[in-house]
Amino acid sequence: TSATPVATAVTATHCPYCALQCGMGLTAGTGGGVEVVERAAFPVNKGALCGKGRTAPALLSSRVRLTEPLVRSHATGKLAPATWEEALDRIAAELSRARAEHGADSCGVFGGGGLTNEKAYALGKFARVALGTSQIDYNGRFCMSSAAAAGQRAFGLDRGLPFPLEDIPRTGCVILVGSNLAETMPPALRYLTELRENGGTLIVVDPRRTRTAEQADLHLAPRPGTDLALALGLLHLVVAGGRTDDAFIEERTTGWEEARAAAMAHWPELVERITGVPVPQLRETVRMFCDAKAAMVLTARGPEQQSKGTDTVGAWINLCLATGRAGRPLSGYGCLTGQGNGQGGREHGQKADQLPGYRKLTDPAARAHVAEVWGVDPDTLPGPGRSAYELLDALGGDIRTLLLMGSNPVVSAPRAAHVEERLRSLDFLAVADVVLSETAELADVVLPVTQWAEETGTVTNLEGRVLLRRRAVSAPDGVRSDLEVLHGLAARLGHGKKFPTDPREVFEELRRASAGGAADYSGISYERLTEGEGEGVFWPCPRGDVEAGGEAAGGEEAVHPGTPRLFLDRFATEDGRARFVPVVHRPAAEEPDAEYPVLLTTGRVLAQYQSGAQTRRVDELNSAAPGPFVEVHPRLAARLGIAEGEAVAVVSRRGRAVAPARVTSSIRPDTVFMPFHWAGEGRANSLTHPALDPVSRMPEFKVCAVRLEPAEPM
Ligand code: SF4
Repeated sequence: TSATPVATAVTATHCPYCALQCGMGLTAGTGGGVEVVERAAFPVNKGALCGKGRTAPALLSSRVRLTEPLVRSHATGKLAPATWEEALDRIAAELSRARAEHGADSCGVFGGGGLTNEKAYALGKFARVALGTSQIDYNGRFCMSSAAAAGQRAFGLDRGLPFPLEDIPRTGCVILVGSNLAETMPPALRYLTELRENGGTLIVVDPRRTRTAEQADLHLAPRPGTDLALALGLLHLVVAGGRTDDAFIEERTTGWEEARAAAMAHWPELVERITGVPVPQLRETVRMFCDAKAAMVLTARGPEQQSKGTDTVGAWINLCLATGRAGRPLSGYGCLTGQGNGQGGREHGQKADQLPGYRKLTDPAARAHVAEVWGVDPDTLPGPGRSAYELLDALGGDIRTLLLMGSNPVVSAPRAAHVEERLRSLDFLAVADVVLSETAELADVVLPVTQWAEETGTVTNLEGRVLLRRRAVSAPDGVRSDLEVLHGLAARLGHGKKFPTDPREVFEELRRASAGGAADYSGISYERLTEGEGEGVFWPCPRGDVEAGGEAAGGEEAVHPGTPRLFLDRFATEDGRARFVPVVHRPAAEEPDAEYPVLLTTGRVLAQYQSGAQTRRVDELNSAAPGPFVEVHPRLAARLGIAEGEAVAVVSRRGRAVAPARVTSSIRPDTVFMPFHWAGEGRANSLTHPALDPVSRMPEFKVCAVRLEPAEPM
């Protein structure tokens, strides 16, 4: 197939991959198909793209994309082409059968942080209205849920960054914790470069000396799983050195005494023993952070993907609050969300405990509001369901069927071999995807769906900036949008009228559903999102006069400018004060021992994205990063007799993965690193631990115990 542009001019749209949501233009290529052109006026990336964004059109016309539904034959056991009617009939029949035989909660739904706001909204509504199931969650649970939980706990609201990226170069000091921006979202690196050019300082906390850490004024390399102790040690030094902002603590926070006492139990020497970070580096960090006129702490997956992720992020937030580095211009705590719509995807109802607008599913007023918009009785809405890993773990048990959109848990879930086995044990699995991912290969029905540039929809980037990703090319024959899929299934289940297929219509409904909620989109419209350079609108953006029923009172629409900066006057808690939460260090769920003596941490590489379902199918990216590897420190390699490039087996209590060794002194001697984008024998998530954070239910992707063994040459 060859993608055909829908307009002769350039269509302004956005990259399909990460949460930066870089602006790009798509136009007709000289040799046919479509071509990416620079969109320099879009403020976030100013035209810059990484290789993933630049090559994104390749997947539009790829010969490996799906263009017809596949249904598993009862006779042969193989997937075979079918019509859309056959495929949708089969899914609806299986969902109905499961509901009749085992109850509504036997139907599971699993979404993704790459789905547009409209799709995430429609999927949550589909689960709760058309299926009546509580069993819905999404892969964003694996991404930033600990930061979201910690932000809610401290500030009463979670928005990845409570300030625009453009504030970063103007602050005085940034502590970047567990983020390798140089590989995950390279165009964002310029904000840190500009910070340093302006005289600011950059401190990077990462067990690896990454390309990002190489840019830092100071690199702290703690043992994986000890960032909580590190943050407490810094707070201890802040208190001991008299560097707290007592007026801020008094006027704008609660709970300081308990948090202070918890930090004071973490002496610098103890913290050095736990983390491996020398005391002088701790002191230097405090000096740089406190001497700056304004300062920020930014976290990503490193501190978040731990079984104590919420408390770890909470410890960094406490550091910000104690020094008055929150709720003030050019200062604050922020999370660098990872997935393309990781932010919007967690706001509109595909999360197990949430309704649209960041409303709580357990709040009677929230249920009543959303039920009115949906035209259903609030008492019919199910309650909260299981979190992502718990849901996957229950497959084949009391969850008998699963509808999955925009996710590939066979590669991306922790303890992946077990998750794969659970998926195989289902009575029925339906997957909607662009390609035959490793998860789709296990399905009974696979639905081929449209992708980013073939459909219009909104996404919300890591700054809380709502953007319109516009349709730029026509979709190949045979594919349908996820919204059409949900409509088709809902119609077969007797709810078709409640599930429009036009994204604009869905967004108009989402506006009403979110009105009055924390993530209020009611003042945002498709028209506003196309204004100017399409730079978007930051939520909350209330329209005040929009009621659940619909139209603005008096006909005139009140225009709210959006909210680029949060918390400057008050935090979003009931009393307007930020809450210190006392936290203490504790070990990871699995620490090294005689049998498994080495720590494993996992992460990403520049040319691949998430489970690799898309990027592994783009030739240029595949050539740049063709497979997994294991980073091993030269001392560990020498002790184990491992040579550069040699196949090494990494073994944990959950499985085994084989990949070539990369011997490098950029990793700690007690730790090995594997990227997680690949399936098969190099699947890093065969090894990872599913221990969950008690608050966020985030699995511990970043720390587990392994041993290394020689492997057969690859
Ligand atoms: Fe796409 Fe992220 Fe790369 Fe930008 S940084 S081009 S959004 S993958």
